[in-house]
Amino acid sequence: MIWCCPRCHGSLASHDEAVTCENCGREYGCIEGIPDLRVEVPSWIDFEDDLQLARSLAARKDASAAELLHEVFSRRAEWNSERVSLRTQQVLDAPKRLDRDVQEWLEPKLKAGQPFLDVGCGPGALLCAAVHRGHQGLGVDVSMTWLIIAQRMVRAHGGTSTFAAAAGEALPLRDGAVTTVVSLDVIEHVNDMPGLAAEIDRVTAPGGAAIISTPNRFSLTAEPHVGVWGVGLLPRPWQAPFVRWRSGLTYTNTRLLSSFGLRRLLRRSTTMQFRLAIPETPPEEIARFSPLKAGFARLYNIIRLYPPLRPIFLVIAPFFRAEGLKAWIISVVGGGLGFP
Ligand SMILES: [Zn+2]
Repeated sequence: MIWCCPRCHGSLASHDEAVTCENCGREYGCIEGIPDLRVEVPSWIDFEDDLQLARSLAARKDASAAELLHEVFSRRAEWNSERVSLRTQQVLDAPKRLDRDVQEWLEPKLKAGQPFLDVGCGPGALLCAAVHRGHQGLGVDVSMTWLIIAQRMVRAHGGTSTFAAAAGEALPLRDGAVTTVVSLDVIEHVNDMPGLAAEIDRVTAPGGAAIISTPNRFSLTAEPHVGVWGVGLLPRPWQAPFVRWRSGLTYTNTRLLSSFGLRRLLRRSTTMQFRLAIPETPPEEIARFSPLKAGFARLYNIIRLYPPLRPIFLVIAPFFRAEGLKAWIISVVGGGLGFP
């Protein structure tokens, strides 16, 4: 088993529907073979409620991923049936949409035969997209509910992945256990952002890579989780009341970073060297825009790569993809990075 104890990093022995740490003796439960290696951290979900829902989904052996997704979204307060159907379809379509991402930035970072780790894999869209290109993934999420669905999604796409429920701030992996780590649109939702960044760094092998994407606080476009414009321009305490006023939606457990904030966080919390990429607006998304907005989006896609404009795009881009490399040797002298 690649997973280890999230508290002491001891080896885990599996028995019946549980695993036990051979070092500290702690026992962790399993659902559908997925170990629940979560430590108590403040989270957007209640662990007990999540487990109950995960068990009820797991019991529906013949249900498709679509049926399970529909069930999960139907339980969301504030969601009408139109939104439930839309989100269900979006998740089902996501693996296809991510195919280009896998080719463009994931594949070049993979080491032959080595699985990549998806931290905050959610319902498993990236893992499914990777399956189609013959790549194996390890999926970690703080929600067991999402993992039950992710497992079914990956199977429906003809692959297998290895899953564990865990907090991003306490990953159940040993130092340098994986060569490529991906975490898409997750860091803005965790309580301890430096803790997540440090854990991604810790589990990445020397010579490995990490990719962290997150929406930009100061994007010129609407806040992507609630579709409200201008949220990031407000001081943090005003954001939730503003979103409530504009849309009626709650805005909790989300803290968007600017490019400066993201860079500072990664510099302080990791030993890796990160570069911020300014991703293009996907053509599928542009297809849904009005003609004027689509025109701007196409123009944006062209000029975002023009070096003199980079400082401007680092302020206003919709989101960032931070691509980090871990040096082969970390020099102790001066705490800096040394390349052999
Ligand atoms: Zn332990």
